[in-house]
Amino acid sequence: MALIDCPDCGHRVSPRAPTCPNCGAPIAAAGRATDQRLVTPGLLGRLATVLGAWLVFPWVVRLLAFLAGIALLAVMFATAR
Ligand SMILES: [Zn+2]
Repeated sequence: MALIDCPDCGHRVSPRAPTCPNCGAPIAAAGRATDQRLVTPGLLGRLATVLGAWLVFPWVVRLLAFLAGIALLAVMFATAR
């Protein structure tokens, strides 16, 4: 893990340190912001994911209910014989 320069005093600190041990400037916030841009989607992406799940979820429930109904019918026909 490479050390980064403190934005305030230039002290070499770990990017995972919450604050600079030399001057106390916040370090992890800046480091995490750049990491999150690469790994996780932004707020817009998160909203799109939630909206997509909200739109798709009823269809998943309907599909499961449909499959459950078919299974119930299959069991009823199988036991009727
Ligand atoms: Zn510092």
